[in-house]
Amino acid sequence: MPLTVQKFGGTSIANATHIKSAAKRVIKTYSAGNKVVVVVSARGRMTDELLELAYEINDRPSSRELDMLLSTGEQMSSALMAMAIHSLGYPAVSFVGRQVGITTDSFHTNARIISINANRIMEELSQDKIVVVAGYQGVDENDNITTLGRGGSDTTAVALAAMLKADICDIYTDVDGIYTADPHIVPEARKLTKISYDEILELASMGAQVVHVRSIELAKNYNVPIRVRPSFNDGTGTLICKEVSEMEKIVVSGATVTKNEAKITIIGVYDKPGQAAKIFRELAKENVNVDMIIQNIGAHGLTDVTFTVLKGDLPIALATTERIKGEIKAKKIIADDKIAKLSVVGVGMRSHCGIAERLFSTLSDEKINIQMISTSEIKISCVIEEGQAERALIAVHRAFELDKEPQAFTRGA
Ligand code: ASP
Ligand code: MG
Repeated sequence: MPLTVQKFGGTSIANATHIKSAAKRVIKTYSAGNKVVVVVSARGRMTDELLELAYEINDRPSSRELDMLLSTGEQMSSALMAMAIHSLGYPAVSFVGRQVGITTDSFHTNARIISINANRIMEELSQDKIVVVAGYQGVDENDNITTLGRGGSDTTAVALAAMLKADICDIYTDVDGIYTADPHIVPEARKLTKISYDEILELASMGAQVVHVRSIELAKNYNVPIRVRPSFNDGTGTLICKEVSEMEKIVVSGATVTKNEAKITIIGVYDKPGQAAKIFRELAKENVNVDMIIQNIGAHGLTDVTFTVLKGDLPIALATTERIKGEIKAKKIIADDKIAKLSVVGVGMRSHCGIAERLFSTLSDEKINIQMISTSEIKISCVIEEGQAERALIAVHRAFELDKEPQAFTRGA
């Protein structure tokens, strides 16, 4: 019998009405002849509210106690979901992570799943019950409750789907699916029917956070197909799956802009071996994560180094570079936090050329200056001025015809 894991996010089960309609969806799948495991998040803003309460009581709460507290949001949802299913006349049983053998490491508030002992779930499924599991949590080897990091219920769902060899993991949420670009910025953005794990990983790390990144990595490793679906209508959503050859034909699948980085330029660095190593060693010591880096060709024994860091890390990154300024014989350090990173992503880039050219000409036609460029096998990113981000995204979306149903890209077309 086919097995489906269905995960419901906080907004999809925010109140009694929503929980009942989620329960109807579960029953529909169950009645169609599937075994169903349901994973639930905490209702609505519950996790935020619990966090606020904790910090109101103690400005440095112990992370172990935070996990005790935060895990309760999901426990409530799971019991309520089981009750909703019962009220519709179907069998269901709810569990917290610990009861279904979800063992994690001991990193409180950001634990990783180490193993799952699925015996209890299998037993309940074999008795034709719908199994409801509280997401986002587990227990470490010393029996302390842990949570998996914000958004971690997705990871619970995918881990269970992998373990139980489910046919599909449906993630019900408050969006229709994954779009070619943020529809709030680009009105003609189109919903994708399918996207590969690698593409969504690039898009997720760039800010299109529809699904928890860690759960996609897990899905990729175990080849679990994920379907991101709307919970408030019957839309089919977007399938996230392994790359298939037809995807190669589509050069660009999506585009995003993010505004969470800032740029530091060190001017007139003494151009000799070991300088870059020195700069980035000091930054690493301060736990500053550097994203893009460029170094100009040196002239008269001097060169400029520019790099980007998360905006929140800018003060520490700046202080660190100021501290070593003398040592690397730099003339001047300039910071700019009014930047945006525009990226286009697509597995088809591996086998097509002319993509960078099309991107750069589009920006040039819009008179948008490119400050930095970086590429990966399936992504090109440009740093531009923050105020031009939206206009750039709209132009690029149009240039790659992302609003149209995909067809093979022909060079110069
Ligand atoms: N309730 C947790 C959060 O809000 C986990 C989740 O929703 O996936 O982050
Ligand atoms: Mg969530």
